[in-house]
Amino acid sequence: MSTHRLERLHLWIKWLLLAVLLALTALIAFYFYQGGWERMRTSRALARLIPSDFFQGPQVAIISGHRGFDSGAVCQDGLMEALVNEEIATRVVDLLKKEGVSAILLDEYDPRLQGLHARALLSIHADSCIDQSGFKVASAEQTIIPRQDQMLVDCLRQKYSEATGLTFRATAITKDMTQYHAFQRVAADTPGAIIETGYLGGDRALLVDDPDRAAAGIAAGILCFLDEQDALTKTPTVTAPNSPAD
Ligand SMILES: [Zn+2]
Repeated sequence: MSTHRLERLHLWIKWLLLAVLLALTALIAFYFYQGGWERMRTSRALARLIPSDFFQGPQVAIISGHRGFDSGAVCQDGLMEALVNEEIATRVVDLLKKEGVSAILLDEYDPRLQGLHARALLSIHADSCIDQSGFKVASAEQTIIPRQDQMLVDCLRQKYSEATGLTFRATAITKDMTQYHAFQRVAADTPGAIIETGYLGGDRALLVDDPDRAAAGIAAGILCFLDEQDALTKTPTVTAPNSPAD
């Protein structure tokens, strides 16, 4: 082969490599333009492989009610709400991690709440020591994402009641719940809810003796919400309209 032809071949290969490189770059750019970053950030499969918080922080944040601040309700025998909450909240975080959701446990006034971006925020509390039974779930009174907040509340309400058999007490929801401080602290687009898991009085058998069951109900509620959100954001495949066979 003459030197001239060899040079031309070299040049041609260089151009070919450059073209392949450009095409690859364009493909990657297109992937991220189409929401690839968001998919990576919210992917549960990736969260299993890569340590949590890698993509802009956690997917789910759980507040252990009263932790790091006060004891919450205290019953006559010394039972403290904050400790009951923590037993459940810790288990919820563990269960979520097992499902590939990157989750963190926060104190009541955790500094990380400020401007927190997450797929869901849930604060876990329990009700007073009176001899009553039932649970409550509420979201913020004022929100820019009412449908997402409602979806989170509905999922928690359904799954927690299924797991525990407790009755949902809608009428007992107070302003303390709908104007809960953490709703104002996190980013406005972070869906949030607060759950009162039951009464330290009437529901003690569940809350104190069976925190695993309470935690399972809450984790199932959060997973239900994440799955429904995933289903909503999935781009529907475009299919040609079927003409009715007549
Ligand atoms: Zn409380």
